[in-house]
Amino acid sequence: MRIAFIGLGAMGYPMAGHLAKQHEVVVWNRTSEKAERHSREHGTLLAADLAACADAEVIITMLPTSKEVDEIVDRLLPHVKEGTLWIDATSGDPNMSRETARRLASKGVELVDAPVTGAVVGATNATLTIMIGGSEKSFSQAREILQLCGKTIIHVGPIGAGHAIKVLTNSIMGATLWITSECLLVAKQYGIDLKTALAVTNAGSGRSNASENLLPMRLLDHKWPLIFKLAHHDKDIRIAASIAHQQHASTPMLALTQQLFTASLNQLGAQADYVEVAKIVARMNATEWDGQSSS
Ligand code: NDP
Repeated sequence: MRIAFIGLGAMGYPMAGHLAKQHEVVVWNRTSEKAERHSREHGTLLAADLAACADAEVIITMLPTSKEVDEIVDRLLPHVKEGTLWIDATSGDPNMSRETARRLASKGVELVDAPVTGAVVGATNATLTIMIGGSEKSFSQAREILQLCGKTIIHVGPIGAGHAIKVLTNSIMGATLWITSECLLVAKQYGIDLKTALAVTNAGSGRSNASENLLPMRLLDHKWPLIFKLAHHDKDIRIAASIAHQQHASTPMLALTQQLFTASLNQLGAQADYVEVAKIVARMNATEWDGQSSS
């Protein structure tokens, strides 16, 4: 099958590489050097220009937000062929995806939203969890392809449902990360050794991905790698808050989490990693974690 892959960022680069093991994959990236490197490393074909992506049976986008996806759709719409399946793996906005789906449907192209979770390590090891919104038929087609990139592929509902659950689940992670950082800071200020506080948390009911995997490396080993841009996480929580607002849902915790992440983004900058919100938790208390860098 001929697949066009658009967006070779931290996630898209390894995903397109896995697809190339079984399919003819054409790659396009805004910064063309990345596409050239991908072609050398994975034997993928270079799209002569963006319009050339329209020759594929399947088009996959993996871009920062739905805004960039829409810009690509605008540019490809005059060229797309009836019967093409468009898989948007971006963590996007469900309202925008439904509108984009309508525009593509007018040209006989079906869209599925297929955001992923599992971080860059999951993309590299092809162990992503992928949540898909769209018709049964498109889901089955998308699953055939995406099983090369992920282990767990779930049909969530109609178009937009994948994007909705993705941003909601990331909001759960954001709130958990924040409250865990706060409580560990209080434990530290109380004189409890951080290693001990984490050991107790992880042996008890406060255990989470934040306490088991994210925070020990930062707080105990003083390593603050960039694994997921805070800018992306903030975008996800803002979309989740907007969905809640649209539904007149009362979600004070979600609203607060969104405010805290946006404030952190304003403080730390677009290139910061999302776990660095723990630094803001410390800064709000006029202190620092040991080994905290200055950013
Ligand atoms: P990156 O920032 O690493 O990559 C973004 C990609 O989009 C790059 O290929 C970039 O091109 C391209 N791009 C940016 N702006 C434009 C534009 N205006 N027009 C065309 N192309 C553009 O992002 P990630 O790969 O980390 O994330 C992609 C999506 O996946 C996001 O929605 C994110 O929330 C989600 N996600 C990310 C995870 C992670 O751990 N990183 C985990 C799960 C989901 P260029 O190379 O030119 O900059």
